[in-house]
Amino acid sequence: MAEDLAVKIKKKWVPVYVVLLAATIVLLAGLYYLYTLTGSSDYSTAGLLDAAVVAYIAWSLYKLVGLKFKPREVVTLVECGKCGYREERPYEPGDFFFKEKGKCPKCGGPLYVAGIYVKEEGEEASFKPLPLSSSLATFITAASGMKRGE
Ligand SMILES: [Zn+2]
Repeated sequence: MAEDLAVKIKKKWVPVYVVLLAATIVLLAGLYYLYTLTGSSDYSTAGLLDAAVVAYIAWSLYKLVGLKFKPREVVTLVECGKCGYREERPYEPGDFFFKEKGKCPKCGGPLYVAGIYVKEEGEEASFKPLPLSSSLATFITAASGMKRGE
């Protein structure tokens, strides 16, 4: 499930970054052409700025392609009925509340399942799209939806 989310985000954002990258490269070529034609420093300054944008978008695209989500880990919390010793263990199918899970490593008392929960990795929030690409993403999503007749 977590992997699907990474695929979803990539499907949505990779075309946006490719379009943005292509557009800024075309702009850069155009600015360079105008600069060689006129020799005006306005074009070279704009070209340098655009080159920085190209590099930034390329870097974002590179990070996006490498984006991976760690699967969420389900853990079982076991607690000693005698001394209160607690330990997190990977969830095993068949674990349920108050199930006995072996002996306490501290006092030898019985260990019981005190909780079963999902450990949040918090990876979903690590990808933040560029502000200007948000509207483009909406447009591309809408356009590809129209093509498929959705
Ligand atoms: Zn104990």
